[in-house]
Amino acid sequence: MLKIRKAYKYRLKTNSNIENKLLQYNGSARFLWNKCLAMNLERLEKRQAILWYNELAFWLTVWKRSEEYGFLKECPSQVLQQKLMDLEKAFKDCFDKSQPLKRTPVFKKRRLNDGIRFPQGFKIDNRRIFLPKIGWVGFYKSRDICGIIKNVTVTHRGGQWFASIQVEETIEIGKHASFSEIGIDVGIKCFAAYSDGSKVEGVHSFRKHEEQLALEQRKLSRKKKGSKNWKKQKIKIAKLHRKIANVRSDFLHKLSTEISENQAKVYVEGLQIRNMSASARGTIENPGQNIKAKSGLNKSILDQGWFEFKRQLDYKLFWRGGILVEVNPKHTSQRCSCCGHTAKENRVSQVAFKCQVCCHEDNADINAAKNILTVGQTGMVCGSNRISDRKQKPAGTREELLPQAC
Ligand SMILES: [Zn+2]
Repeated sequence: MLKIRKAYKYRLKTNSNIENKLLQYNGSARFLWNKCLAMNLERLEKRQAILWYNELAFWLTVWKRSEEYGFLKECPSQVLQQKLMDLEKAFKDCFDKSQPLKRTPVFKKRRLNDGIRFPQGFKIDNRRIFLPKIGWVGFYKSRDICGIIKNVTVTHRGGQWFASIQVEETIEIGKHASFSEIGIDVGIKCFAAYSDGSKVEGVHSFRKHEEQLALEQRKLSRKKKGSKNWKKQKIKIAKLHRKIANVRSDFLHKLSTEISENQAKVYVEGLQIRNMSASARGTIENPGQNIKAKSGLNKSILDQGWFEFKRQLDYKLFWRGGILVEVNPKHTSQRCSCCGHTAKENRVSQVAFKCQVCCHEDNADINAAKNILTVGQTGMVCGSNRISDRKQKPAGTREELLPQAC
């Protein structure tokens, strides 16, 4: 038995009265985050210990009583406390050596990082939700909620408001229904190539709408900032962004669900996508090369959402008793999946693979997927598999298999 958390997201039926309150609370929460972050960053600079939740909560009560920051009183206290907890967690994560990708927390920008969480005090009644200091708000109930409700987060995106209802569910993790195993190579040309020879084209939701987006952006730049038409155009652009995000999210979820249902073990390249998409520009002392090409690649990588795809595969497989295994990506694109001959020359072009020794011909991505499967399977046999460790770890941990271990 395992406790997992899921979130159900619904669009809220707001009116201007509710929206004004939500904007105000968001503003207060953001103000508090930025103020406390600034305090802590200053302390870090002076080599002083940073303030944790308890000290910050004390300062919050002081500020609430002051004239200058008295507006914080209007906002539900728990919303502000949750922001302080988030900040504490962000600092703890950034100091945590086991999470090398975590960075120092950053300042929140207006409208960009809006989101407030209600840990309690809310009620849910069929198609409406009660939020403290706001009242009953209707929502578009697209599906039923299962599990014990833990908290509600209200977010704002593209002119619409959403409530994410987080629930806790107890699931039993048994054996996966199938014994099937597959290697997947994620690429730029096609989204995913499978070791069984099939391929999935990506949606390229962003590229497809890029031209339209550029057109609308140009229109915006010609309008007077702050004018009625400028605001209208802003909403139009926000809608387009939302559409792109929705298309991508839908595609990734459908694909990851399908794979996790049919495959018990999935092997993927242990590619650090975040590192790959790191700044191509470099620093002033050490400028990057091929900035244009790399930023094009960045856009493709992020557009396709590989990182999110792997994250979804990881937890969905885990819930169904399957497993996602990351393998060392070394030479997977240059090795022949038939005879094992490894050479740069095998890669005839971006799409074609032809072995220089045994003349085996294949699609380059599918050849790579077959290699990933082989590396993964041989690694497993050699005893470097760590599935037993995995059972104790929460979803989200991955293991890396090295082919050299054999
Ligand atoms: Zn060969």
